[in-house]
Amino acid sequence: MAKAVIEINAECCKGCYICVELCPTGALEIKDFKAAVKDAELCTGCMSCELRCPDFAIIITRNAK
Ligand code: SF4
Ligand code: SF4
Repeated sequence: MAKAVIEINAECCKGCYICVELCPTGALEIKDFKAAVKDAELCTGCMSCELRCPDFAIIITRNAK
């Protein structure tokens, strides 16, 4: 099971690439000018994307171990 659930609010996302560049595992990508999940299994739940998104468009929910 993935370590976290990635939720992206496309209405808030402006496709700035910050989250894609920050993600240490390559779990995110930009599709049609919006952030998207590329591979949820790669997400470690580090929260970097959620914390640094200027538009609060990503919410990470860590799964229980
Ligand atoms: S950092 Fe936020 S606004 Fe920028 S691409 Fe990622 S989700 Fe979208
Ligand atoms: S929580 Fe960390 S590993 Fe998961 S998508 Fe965001 S930056 Fe990448």
